Amino acid sequence: METRGTKPVIFLFTFPLQGHLNPNFQLANILFNRGFSITVIHTEFNSPNSSNFPHFTFVSIPDGLSDSEASNPDVIELLHDLNSKCVAPFDDCLKKLLSEEPTAACVIVDALWYFTDDLTEKFGIPRMVLRTVNLSAFVAFSKFHVLREKGYLSLQESQADSPVPELPYLRMKDLPWFQTEDPRSGDKLKRGVIKSLKSSSGIIFNAIEDLEAEQLDQTLKEFPVPLFCIGPFHRRVTASSSSLLTQDMTCLSWLDKQEPKSVIYASLGSIASMDESEFLEIAWGLRNSNQPFLWVVRPGSIRGTEWIEILPKGFIESIEGKGKIVKWAPQIEVLSHRATGGFLTHCGWNSTIESICEAVPMICKPSFGDQRVNARYISDVWRIGLHLENKIERLEIENCVRALMTSSHGEEMRKRIMPMKETAEQCVKLGGSSDRNLGNLIAYILSF
Ligand code: UDP
Repeated sequence: METRGTKPVIFLFTFPLQGHLNPNFQLANILFNRGFSITVIHTEFNSPNSSNFPHFTFVSIPDGLSDSEASNPDVIELLHDLNSKCVAPFDDCLKKLLSEEPTAACVIVDALWYFTDDLTEKFGIPRMVLRTVNLSAFVAFSKFHVLREKGYLSLQESQADSPVPELPYLRMKDLPWFQTEDPRSGDKLKRGVIKSLKSSSGIIFNAIEDLEAEQLDQTLKEFPVPLFCIGPFHRRVTASSSSLLTQDMTCLSWLDKQEPKSVIYASLGSIASMDESEFLEIAWGLRNSNQPFLWVVRPGSIRGTEWIEILPKGFIESIEGKGKIVKWAPQIEVLSHRATGGFLTHCGWNSTIESICEAVPMICKPSFGDQRVNARYISDVWRIGLHLENKIERLEIENCVRALMTSSHGEEMRKRIMPMKETAEQCVKLGGSSDRNLGNLIAYILSF
């Protein structure tokens, strides 16, 4: 095995979406702290800021995306474009890296790089895969061929609330659909990812096996490769920013002025978008709840607008002191702030696990993919949140915010999320499940 100095080398191929870059870099830091030398391979598109990670070596590959491809609102098409355009550049990159580090320990790729299996096999280097979803969503994804065969994925509106026999906790409408014009495109992605996972040397999850023991058993049956649940990643490393947008740090001084557990934090992550009417309903719902709120509205996330210019005249003045709207927040710090008492979220897995780790109960507004599965677990299985399942209306938002923040129902959720937070804390401590799994992962990588 090649060592840089005395350290074994890992090549990490990051995927250029925010919800992937964060756990990709967290994993890189975890492995660096455990004695590995890390070479980060990244695309020019959504290139990370290397100056935030002076301890890694960075290698950029040309992805060849045109401007229109790079701003494609159909994220699944973007993923396919990246996968097809990066084959030759990744091939060249790996060839060069392996000529410099001929016995590097392994390559770790984000699971969305589904094209990489043939190349790593060609070069004879072990390939580990980082899957950034949790196990419950993973199980739902992995059964997609069965769900497709049974016709569940093209079902009628009238069956939306029917249970899914193969996935006990889910309803048909919770299945991990993708926001794409062409359903075959979503199938192609799932097929590619599953094939690449099954042929990998092992899968790493930002998940906690104590919270998802049943789903771990199912995953082990379907995927006959070593699995390592070593989450929550962000609890193992101090924050270093892999943020593509500038985080507005004034959020924290604003939170300092609020009462403990009084603020509802609202953010729909880095990809989900909404139409103008949904945005306005959320705006009025938050305002009318009379609860302090901190709201992230990502530029471009309201279809057809730049930012929040469609808010009616006088709205901003009317929330003075009570509500704050920003373009991007330091989310982990916001969730851990003593003033934050609830989270209106799209239920991406990073946001969900970050919220669980701070014992902040949620209001779920999922859009696509794993978000729907996570929302069902949050509301019905773990019972640590409310679920916006109908058309988004201001009164429902207002009622949900009040229920979460001020009612006994919300208090019960707060009590139920507490032991989950404790589990998340314990599992990374010496002898905890994630700690043991990390030890096993390191021994496994060193055995290649
Ligand atoms: N995030 C952030 N600031 C924000 C909103 C989100 O730093 O204002 C981070 C958040 O902490 C999380 C990631 O962006 O780590 C979003 O990932 P997630 O899986 O929740 O959703 P996605 O963006 O992939 O849909």
